[in-house]
Amino acid sequence: MSNEVLNYDKIAEASLAKAQRDGAETMWDRRAAQKTQCGFGEAGVCCRICTMGPCRVSPVPGKGAERGICGANADTIVARNTARMVAAGASAHSDHARDIVHALHHSKAEGPYKVRDEAKLRRIAKEWDVVDADTKETYALAHEMAELALEEFGKPFGTQRFLKRAPKARQEIWAREDIAPRAIDMEVVTLMHSTHMGCAADYESLFRRAMRTGMADGWGGSMIGTEFSDILYGTPTARASSSNLGVIDAEMVNIMVHGHDPNLSEMVVLAAQNPEMVELAKSKGAKGINIVGMCCTGNEMTMRHGIKIAGNFYQQEMAIITGAMEAVVVDVQCIFPALPELAKTYHTRFVSTSPKAKIAGDIFIEFSEATGLDNAAEIVKLAVENFPNRDASKVEIPDIKQDTMVGYSVETIIEHLDAVVNSQLEDELGTVKPLTDVIYAGVIRGAAGVVGCNNPKQQHDYAHITVMEELIKRDVICVVTGCAAQAAAKAGLLTLEAKDKCGRGLKEVCERVNIPPVLHMGSCVDISRILHIVNLCADQRGVDPALLPVVGIAPEWMSEKAVAIANYVVGSGINTYLGVIPPVLGGPNFTKLMTEDCQEFIGAHFVFEKDPIVMVDKIMEDMEAKRVALGI
Ligand code: SF4
Ligand code: SF4
Repeated sequence: MSNEVLNYDKIAEASLAKAQRDGAETMWDRRAAQKTQCGFGEAGVCCRICTMGPCRVSPVPGKGAERGICGANADTIVARNTARMVAAGASAHSDHARDIVHALHHSKAEGPYKVRDEAKLRRIAKEWDVVDADTKETYALAHEMAELALEEFGKPFGTQRFLKRAPKARQEIWAREDIAPRAIDMEVVTLMHSTHMGCAADYESLFRRAMRTGMADGWGGSMIGTEFSDILYGTPTARASSSNLGVIDAEMVNIMVHGHDPNLSEMVVLAAQNPEMVELAKSKGAKGINIVGMCCTGNEMTMRHGIKIAGNFYQQEMAIITGAMEAVVVDVQCIFPALPELAKTYHTRFVSTSPKAKIAGDIFIEFSEATGLDNAAEIVKLAVENFPNRDASKVEIPDIKQDTMVGYSVETIIEHLDAVVNSQLEDELGTVKPLTDVIYAGVIRGAAGVVGCNNPKQQHDYAHITVMEELIKRDVICVVTGCAAQAAAKAGLLTLEAKDKCGRGLKEVCERVNIPPVLHMGSCVDISRILHIVNLCADQRGVDPALLPVVGIAPEWMSEKAVAIANYVVGSGINTYLGVIPPVLGGPNFTKLMTEDCQEFIGAHFVFEKDPIVMVDKIMEDMEAKRVALGI
């Protein structure tokens, strides 16, 4: 099969040709079957939130139907649709976080869920003004913190606790503009209320309410998810891993963990390390058990354990098409419903585990935090026992893998920065000052957070890699998460050697600090780590984050979660560049509000740009203008 959007990927062509030989259907076949996608949906001007509809209005002002049956115009419809995307995205991240906090509530010294970063637990407890945070018994404190975190989802009064991490100037903007998020679930619910038929019909008000809901994700759900995952499973530290489909091992039992929630995958890794399970695998003729990761579960596991990354979003089918995958174990989010059917073409077992994401077609083994390790053991055993069913004639693993460095949490980055603190000047250790110093000195021109998915509307990974390569060439340091991070891993950008692809300034910094120019900061919820470090930098310099030469970029985004993310990044004062145009162009006033007018009250805006090279040019102009305004 030849498809121009795949030209960039060395593996894809062979993989899809194999799928065709094996009679397996892929997303490319389904994409082709869709033919031309609907222009009304693309422009965001179709509405089906009540049964007087569905209505569709003209995306061209002055032509055709200008209002739905209720009288909603294009801007209202576009704003409501966008708001609902934000609500769904924020729900996904936040519900994920809730499960992590529940696991902390189950934690005990002798159980599989235990406190692995006690210092972080105490640090956050202090940040949240818990009394005796330094001295309380570990698990008493862990359970108290879990309850406090659960209250963040539904407390009747007040705003999110983590907002205090932002500099005063930013907190004042949030208060002034009424976008400081209250309880997480409340924001989602009231936004769904606002977008009900016959409620909000003011696109600007809808935009602000959507932004506040996005903020409840970034500064609430996602930040809780990240910080509490670190407490439970350890704060990531720099470590080596390997990526791309070549990490699937022909001689081992291969188990792919796919989805987002480390509560499950941590247990799968533990269960697979059990010597009895390894012995069982050997008795079946395998050399051992090989766990590989996909999407954000993969990111969580590689950040904390160096688990190898099989691929990113668009490769989830290709991993099965290798014919060497004994089981695909999924939790929630970004899992193609097509996988169980595809798995049947091979011997692969598809195991869904979450009652929130039951996927029909093969086996459902319900996972719960109370019985986590037992559930995981059952799943691993199923995979091991499936090894003899592998059809050797169908096995074809692409011989491509790439060494990679992962694990750059905020704590780890600061530790690396400490190495260049000048003790003669009595500079403090444990701060981001060395980073802001090199940015202010102009040695590096700025920083970019490159995040997000893959999308068949884009040449896969091309936009990710092009944007990153062009930015580091121009002395802009990149931090990455999600499937963008996995694209960087496959392209070799997460290595110390990638410094040779940088401009002189960034290369020098990478050498001195001993880091790659593109830093893997984790999964999609871990974009909260990026928020945190940007705000530490702003605080250290005593400025609002909107003044720093920093941007957010989602070159190939596709999910509603990405829309929630983009909203909280802009809400946090960071210009956000989108490589896939969101379905808003049918609402001209709403589009103008997103791309221009919100600058006035939030200090940041969205930029839509499909061409990654043009995007980088715009980013450089943006950063240089900020530098001039700062006088640096
Ligand atoms: S809410 Fe209005 S625009 Fe939407 S489907 Fe109902 S009548 Fe049509
Ligand atoms: S980056 Fe996008 S596709 Fe990848 S795991 Fe996150 S939301 Fe899913």
